[in-house]
Amino acid sequence: MSKAKKESNLSRLLKEAGKYRFLTYCSLLLSALSAAMAIMVFVYLYFILEEAVGLYPDYSGDNNMVNNAWIALGFSLGSFFVYIAGLICSHLSAFRIASNIRKKAISHVMELSIGEIERFGSGRLRKIIIDSSGAGETYLAHLLPDMVGALVTPIAIIVVLVVFDWRLGLISLIPAVLGFACMFTMTGPKMKEDMKNYQDAIEGVNNQAVEYVRGIPVVKTFNQTIHSFSRFKKSIEDYSNFCLSYTKRCHWPMVFFEVFVNSVFAFIIGAALIMEGNSWTDSSFLLNLMFYIVFTPIISNTLMKVMFMSENGMIVSDALDRIDSIMGLKPLEEGRGDLPKDHSIELRDVSFSYEKGGKKAIDGISLFIKSNSKVALVGPSGGGKSTAASLIARFYDVDEGKILIGGADIRDMKKDDLNAMVSLVFQNNRLFKGSILENMRMADKDASEREVLEALHKAQCDDILERLEEGIHAQYGSKGTYFSGGEIQRLCIARAFLKKSKILIFDEATAYFDAENEYKVQLAINELSKDKTVVMIAHRLSSLSGVDKVFVIDEGRLVESGSPEELLEKGGLYKTMHDRFLSSVKWRIGQ
Ligand code: ADP
Repeated sequence: MSKAKKESNLSRLLKEAGKYRFLTYCSLLLSALSAAMAIMVFVYLYFILEEAVGLYPDYSGDNNMVNNAWIALGFSLGSFFVYIAGLICSHLSAFRIASNIRKKAISHVMELSIGEIERFGSGRLRKIIIDSSGAGETYLAHLLPDMVGALVTPIAIIVVLVVFDWRLGLISLIPAVLGFACMFTMTGPKMKEDMKNYQDAIEGVNNQAVEYVRGIPVVKTFNQTIHSFSRFKKSIEDYSNFCLSYTKRCHWPMVFFEVFVNSVFAFIIGAALIMEGNSWTDSSFLLNLMFYIVFTPIISNTLMKVMFMSENGMIVSDALDRIDSIMGLKPLEEGRGDLPKDHSIELRDVSFSYEKGGKKAIDGISLFIKSNSKVALVGPSGGGKSTAASLIARFYDVDEGKILIGGADIRDMKKDDLNAMVSLVFQNNRLFKGSILENMRMADKDASEREVLEALHKAQCDDILERLEEGIHAQYGSKGTYFSGGEIQRLCIARAFLKKSKILIFDEATAYFDAENEYKVQLAINELSKDKTVVMIAHRLSSLSGVDKVFVIDEGRLVESGSPEELLEKGGLYKTMHDRFLSSVKWRIGQ
């Protein structure tokens, strides 16, 4: 870790440059050249001033002032165009490097388990990948070339100061040193920590904002205010508190920094008054004085650049650390390629907790689901049903025990094989913006239109297609083509048909639908379930028609299992839930 820390931002970024690396070097060279040429403009200005003062008041004889003015102009234009050429080079390589960083980070995210992505926070992931690579891009495209210029300039300034009048030179350095002192109170390790806290605070707001937007329907339904999203509110407050305290802390140092770096000429004039008194008769002193007044604004300019350089250096180093934090997330290990012999599922002494050493969401569960059978996981909310389903799909790896499909440990199967074998249909399934056909083809990109129509038919979607003029080419999410929750669910079931997975997991698939939709979704599920192993997770026992076996999970443990009839007879938790369900139905009918 410490080795990575010591590596410069430039070499960390250049690792992603590939063959564009030389363009970055070119941009640095051109920037240095442009800075040197800019100094030459001042040297020729000095020559012009020298002649102007020396020849005063008769300029009729031969002189080089016009020639020198042309040369100064030449250097000035040259410096500008060389700088632009440098920027072109730096931009070309910066865009490429930022794009490479994004591609690398996104490919890495694709290798992560869904659980790991959720744990990290999808809003946070998005922000880091987009913003941090953007910070690298700005750094390479603008800041780095400016930085080289800002390093060349002080060297040139010192040479110029020594060559002309060292006393005025030293005096012009006093405000620069004072400016530096102010700057140092704002930079250093504390600044690095502040930058990190700043980024953390923005990330916090970003992540909570994503959660908030997802939860807007709930907020609206229950007439809540933003205060119900206390974490979002807190993240905004944290951000604003941080910004306020940081701004207040930098307030005075910044004011003095600005004053010092912009008052170099005042120091020089003050010094001239002290050194020469009220009558300035020495023409060479006058010449140097004029030259320094013209020349010294470059010092303030350079100091400003140096200040932003150190600030931006910290921003980019923090951004690169954040990208590294994504690259450091461990992808699920690829299995050696074991193939299951059937579609049975076995959990053998499985334990799992979301946080290391935290409460076990699954606590020593063993169960066996026969190939091509239909089973249900039931139990109180928070008992661990969804977690068990996520483990079967390998969204997370188990902490203890193993999960076998057709006798093969899922960790030993190829990820693609497992993915093709298991399909999950969630309660909050989503469709993407695009045509229905495109949405369906996410399950099988080679599916023909006929196959898609067949899947939609089996998933009871005919009524949906009938009302769409463009049929499967209708664009979801545009021109008023929206679907109800039940309709989306059926379309997602059609998508699952196309995937042809042999193991289907329905997580609360029919919850909250109206009777007609629930009926149709049930028909679709029954159709989809033929010759497949089906695991249903349901709070509502009504959706459990035709299941072979029920597993009752409570507090992460398997507390009962058997056919629905056996469990009713046994009189345990299932019976209690069943009785409660019946009385709620009676209550609804009796209303
Ligand atoms: P069920 O599906 O039976 O309602 P879950 O499997 O969703 O139960 O939850 C089991 C336990 O795991 C609960 O205590 C829940 O708070 C916790 N849990 C679920 N998802 C997460 C998560 N993503 N991060 C941390 N804890 C979680």
